[in-house]
Amino acid sequence: MNEIACPICASHLNIRMAKGRTSNKPFIMLICPKDGRHFRAFISDQTYINKVLEEKAKGMGEG
Ligand SMILES: [Zn+2]
Repeated sequence: MNEIACPICASHLNIRMAKGRTSNKPFIMLICPKDGRHFRAFISDQTYINKVLEEKAKGMGEG
């Protein structure tokens, strides 16, 4: 997964996995670690999410 920087403070965005309450589908949330008002985004493309999940399961040394 590409690192994405906050457009305001240039911090690398935190990537969080979450699940939709009603749909129960996983999605990815990108949020600025310094201030959630800076940047917040959601990815709900299931193909992409599955790919990210697989990569996370493979290599756990991301830091
Ligand atoms: Zn920021």
